[in-house]
Amino acid sequence: MKFFWLPVLLLIVGLNCTSSKEFTGFSYDPPDVTNTKDREVKPQYRRIIGTGQPVVWVSNNFEGARLSNFYAVNDSTFEAFIEPENFPINNSPWYAFKIWSDTVRTISLRLNYKDARHRYIPKIKIDEKFTPIDIEQAIYDSVGKTLEFKLKVDPKPKLVSAQIITDNEFFDKWLSKITKKPFVNIEQIGISNLGNSIKEISINEVLNDKEAGVLVIMSRQHPPEVSGFLASLFFIEELSAESELAENFRSEFKVRMFPLINPDGVLNGHWRHNAAGVDLNRDWENFNQPETRAVRDALLPILKTPKRKVFYGIDFHSTNENIFYPIEESVKTYPDNFTQKWISFIESDNSDIEFATEEFDTSSPIFKNWIFRTFGADAVTFEVYDELDIKTIEKISRSAAQSLMRLLLGEKSKTRFNKN
Ligand SMILES: [Zn+2]
Repeated sequence: MKFFWLPVLLLIVGLNCTSSKEFTGFSYDPPDVTNTKDREVKPQYRRIIGTGQPVVWVSNNFEGARLSNFYAVNDSTFEAFIEPENFPINNSPWYAFKIWSDTVRTISLRLNYKDARHRYIPKIKIDEKFTPIDIEQAIYDSVGKTLEFKLKVDPKPKLVSAQIITDNEFFDKWLSKITKKPFVNIEQIGISNLGNSIKEISINEVLNDKEAGVLVIMSRQHPPEVSGFLASLFFIEELSAESELAENFRSEFKVRMFPLINPDGVLNGHWRHNAAGVDLNRDWENFNQPETRAVRDALLPILKTPKRKVFYGIDFHSTNENIFYPIEESVKTYPDNFTQKWISFIESDNSDIEFATEEFDTSSPIFKNWIFRTFGADAVTFEVYDELDIKTIEKISRSAAQSLMRLLLGEKSKTRFNKN
C-alpha cells in the first residue's frame, strides 16, 4: 500500500527513534552498543552497474559513496538497494551514488534500505550545488519503508545523495581557508583504523604564562550527520573572526577542535560507525578505538597544566529536529548549568526556529560525559535538524558562537584557577 509523503510525514517523525518524546537515554540504541571492541564490517564493493534497456548506469566509485546494488524493477522503475556497514545499527541510512543513462529519459528511482526506513530527503547535485528533490512529489511506502521519486537521467552522471558530500577535497579546502589565520593551527593527533589522519584545529592567541580557559569542540562522530558538521565549521569560523568579541574571547580562551573524528566512516559512506564497526560516541569510557584515544591523549595533558582549564565542551550531531542534550541541572558542573543559560540566548537570537531540549544524567560513555567526568566542566550534545538549509545552519551557528563567547568571558572573569 502506498501513501503520498505529506500525510505520513507526522507518522515518520513520530516513529523516529531519536525524537524527543521517545528518546530516553539508551532506549534508541541497538543492544550491546557500549561494547566497543572491533566488529565485523561488510565491505562495500566499489563498481559501476548497468541495467535495463536502454541501460541506466550507477556508480559508487567515489569518496562518501554508498550503494549496495541496483536493479531494474520494470521498464521505467529502478531500485537502489542500500545496506549499512554492519548490524545492529541506528536508523541513519546514508546513500550516495552517481546515475546516468544511455538516453535522455525520466525514470522512477526507488531507494530501498536493508532493515531500515527512509530518513534523508534525496539531494541532487547539479552544477556543484546540492538541491533537495520536491519531497511532496515523492512516494513513501510505509510498509516497504522505501522512497520513490522521478528523476530525469541522461548521459551526464548526476549525483544522488542523502546529504551534501563532504569529501577530502571539501574538507581540505575548508582547512586551508581557516588555517590562513595566524592563530589557527592544524595538527595530526592520530591515525584512524584505515590510516586516515585525525586532525585537531586549535585557536590560540593567549600568552603561555597567562591563565586561559579551554573550549573543546567535537564533530562528525557519526558520518551522515552533515548538518551538525557544517554547524561546527561555521562555529569555528565565528570564533576566529576579526570581531572585537572574538578577539576578546581569543585573548582569554584557547579552542581545541576535532572537526572530523570519523574520517573512515565518512569516506566509506557509513551509516554510523567507524571502520571497526563501532559507534565512536559510545567509546568514551573504554577507548577501544584509535579515533577516541587520539582525542583523549591530546586533551589529558590539560589536567597537568595549571594555567589552563576546560570550561566547556560541545559535540555536534544531527537528528530529525534541532535539539540540545544538556547535562541535567542536578549534576554540579563548572560552570554550573552553563548549557541551560546558553540555550536561552540561542533561542532568543533565533526566535523563528524551533529548538527542543532534553536533559540527561552523565552515565553513558559519550563524549559530553567524558568532558564532564575528566575536567568537571559542563558540556552539551548539539543536534542540528537533518534538513536545515545551509543559510539557516550558518545563522544559528554564528549567533550561537557569539552568545557562547560572551557567556564564557563572563564565567572566566569570576573563576579562580587553582589546581590541586
Ligand atoms: Zn550523532
